Parts: sequence; C-alpha cells; structure tokens
Amino acid sequence: MAITDHVDFNGFMEGVKRRNPHQPEFVQAVQEVAEDIFAFIQDKEEYHEQQILRRIAEPDRVVSFRVCWEDDNGNIRVQRGYRVQNNNAIGPYKGGIRFHPSVNESVLKFLAFEQTFKNALTGLPMGGGKGGSNFNPKGKSVREIMRFCQSFMTELYRHIGADVDVPAGDIGVGGREIGYMFGQYKRITNQFTVVLTGKGLEYGGSLIRPEATGYGAVYFLANMLAVKDMTLEGKTAVISGSGNVATHAAEKVVHLGGKPVTLSDSAGFIHDPEGLTLEKIDWVKKHKTYRRGRIADYCDEFKGATYHEGKTPWGVACDVALPCATQNELLGDDARTLVANGCIGVSEGANMPTNLEGVHVFKDARILFAPGKAANAGGVAVSGLEMSQNSERRSWSETELQQMLKDIMSGIHSNCLTYGEMGGGYVDYVKGANIAGFKKVADAMLAFGVV
Ligand code: NDP
Repeated sequence: MAITDHVDFNGFMEGVKRRNPHQPEFVQAVQEVAEDIFAFIQDKEEYHEQQILRRIAEPDRVVSFRVCWEDDNGNIRVQRGYRVQNNNAIGPYKGGIRFHPSVNESVLKFLAFEQTFKNALTGLPMGGGKGGSNFNPKGKSVREIMRFCQSFMTELYRHIGADVDVPAGDIGVGGREIGYMFGQYKRITNQFTVVLTGKGLEYGGSLIRPEATGYGAVYFLANMLAVKDMTLEGKTAVISGSGNVATHAAEKVVHLGGKPVTLSDSAGFIHDPEGLTLEKIDWVKKHKTYRRGRIADYCDEFKGATYHEGKTPWGVACDVALPCATQNELLGDDARTLVANGCIGVSEGANMPTNLEGVHVFKDARILFAPGKAANAGGVAVSGLEMSQNSERRSWSETELQQMLKDIMSGIHSNCLTYGEMGGGYVDYVKGANIAGFKKVADAMLAFGVV
C-alpha cells in the first residue's frame, strides 16, 4: 500500500472524534500530538503499516467503578472512579490520581495519553496511565476524605501493582490522600509493595518528590533561556495556580534570581508587584494546604498586593510565564496578550494549560514555549526514582536527587532539541517533545508485533 493511503491527518482526526464523542479534551490532546507526528512519519512506512499512532490513541483499557462512602452526617454518597491505562510498551502504567469535580473519562484519557509521551521523555521505564474521581475534596472533613480514599482503593487495588500500574498524586491528591490509599491497599492485600508513589518519607517516599514538578518546570525554562544565552536572574515571572506545582515553581524562580509576581486559584489571582519571597510562598503553602484557605487572603497578609476576582493572571506584564493550575487555562487571547507584553518564555507546569489556539500563537511568535509533557516531567521522573529506591530498599540523599532531577530535565531538553530545531535559532519544543516521546514508545511497540 502506498504511504499516501495512510497519510491523511484530517481522516485520522475524524476517526478519533467519531470514536470518542463528547470527549473534547482527549481529542484536543491527540490532535496536538498528531499534528507533529504525521509530518514525522511521512516517510516511515513501518509506523503506518503497524498503525502505531492509532494504537497509542486507543487506551489499553479504561476501568470505571462506583465509589460509595458515608459523609459525616450519615448520608450515603456515590461517586465515579476511574483508571485509564493508556500504554505500557516501555514499563508499568504510571500516572497520577486526580480528585476534582471536573474529572470525567475525557479528562483522564487526555491525561493518560499525554503521560505516555511524558514518561518516555524522562528516559525511565514507565508507561502511561491516569486515574481519579469526580469527588470534590473541598469542604470535606479529614475523616470524609479518609473514608473516600479507602473506598476508592477498595476497587482500584485489583487493577494496580508494582509491575502493573503505579499511581501517584495530582490535583486534589497530595501526601495525605496517598497515605490513606496506601494504608488501605496494604490492609486489603497484606503486601508492602511499590504500588503508589508520592508516599511519606517514613514509609518509602522519596525526598524532593513534592518539589520535583515545579522545580523541574523552572529548570526546563532555565535550559531554554540558556540556549539564548539568558538566565532567570532579574526576570519577572507570572505564575498561575497556588497548589503543589505553582508554589514550588515560584520557589525555584526565587532560587534562580527571578521575581514571581502572581499566583491564582479557581476564584481569581493575586498580583504582588514587589515579588513573592520565600517567606511569602511558604505562607501560601501553609494557607492552601493546612488551612485550606483561598489565595485572596494573601492580600490581607501582605500589603501592596491586589486581588483580581474571576480573572487569570496573563494580562500582567512579564518576561516569563508558568501556567501551573489546570488544563485550558491559557487561551488564544491570553497568549496574544503575553506575547504583546514582551513575554519571551512559557513553561507549562500544568498538563495542557494552553489551548490549541494559544499553542499556535506561541509557535507563530517563535517564543520559547515548553509543553507540559516536557516541562512538568520532573514529578513523574522523581516518582520513577522513588520506585527504584523502593526496589533497592535504599534512599538517596537530597543532593543526589536534586542533581538527578536537574540531569533528567536537561536530558529532556536535549531530546527536544534533537527533533525540534527548526533553523534560524528557533526550537519548536512541542514538536521536539512529541516526536522524541512518540519514537521511544513506537519503537518498543514495533518490537512486540501486533498485540
Ligand atoms: P493542586 O491540587 O496542588 O493545585 C491545583 C491548583 O490549580 C490550585 O491552586 C487550584 O485552585 C487551581 N485550579 C484547579 N482547577 C482550576 C480551574 N478550573 N481554574 C483555575 N484554577 C484551578 O494540584 P497540582 O499543583 O498538583 O497540579 C496542578 C497541575 O499540574 C495539574 O494540571 C496537574 O495535572 C499538573 N501536574 C502535577 C504534577 C504533580 O506532581 N503534582 C505532576 C505533573 C503535572 P483551587 O484551590 O481553587 O481549586
């Protein structure tokens, strides 16, 4: 069959849309990857013949289950839980668990698809998966969260395992929730195995796992700037989100001499023109995590800052931007505003925070733009290192792990250069990440034949 018989991007996308009705996030994620992969595989017959992209864009399996739990008032509540196992060509499925009311099959399929490429980019042997529930932890008591986590794991445990699938945290799932789920897994199976990462240090967790995603996104940004002989020193950074990724990204920007001036949550953003210091960031971490507070309260604590209800921070002038909250939080107009205001680099701490139109604005403006699958891979990379430490029954020091994280982020950056250098000094990091991630998974799939 002639290659042109297979090479029809529009036909491919029509098929993806037809097979996945009402799943816009998943279709968006596949389209972003397919745009680059179609060009790359034009002259590579084996990828066509074996329908590799078509196969990666169809999850190995999607498990959906009922999660019943009892609230503090004795009411029985019913939620839906999921695990999407997208691809295990290069290692056990690996990817976080998200608890958020917006969770549905489309969101988790997009995240598991992205995770497959991201994990390949780290160079570690991890396949791609993602899970979660539409459970909303906001406003729930600690006991309610514990009961929910236990009920969720009572079903999930059948589908995971050290060599099968190793989940971690994500939005709404931090160290506490991982602890409750690990406790329940251990109770049901009577096994202390590496079945979750992001664990507490006392029971097999790794140092710097909480910091790794945010720090990694800033290391990636620093790597991109270095190609242009620039550093973060003195640069103003606009950051969205105020959770795990955002606060650690802000911290690393400060470490490297930059000035973060915004943070946000789902209700609005704060602008602190003097810049967030390590002390201020520490206050946000405690306020959001332990006091379950809102970012608006920052302005009562630190004078000079302003709160902008219902708005995102992309209109604030900056040199660099780090979207670290959630998917599709940075749209085409936001991207145009950032570029018009002189932003030279964007590093995605969140997964798919920029919509397709925004990605094209950044590409057309030829600014430094790192997609999440490359920029936020530091978290899963340290999760991979947590698995290695658990298997070896040892713990590496913080210094060792910091160096490994830096090396992994530099390695991902180099991988992106391999396939993303476009000439004239411009690097298309989206293309570079998509092709490097795809190639590794695709070549493993070729080796297995049609399975
Ligand atoms: P957290 O739950 O710690 O924080 C999420 C932050 O995003 C909160 O500030 C939250 O605000 C905000 N947010 C959530 N939904 C929305 C929304 N619809 N609009 C605006 N803001 C919103 O999550 P993480 O920091 O762990 O994750 C953030 C992003 O990073 C996600 O895309 C996640 O998939 C990605 N990521 C996380 C990794 C990790 O290691 N944790 C690894 C790789 C990627 P509010 O408090 O109001 O809900």
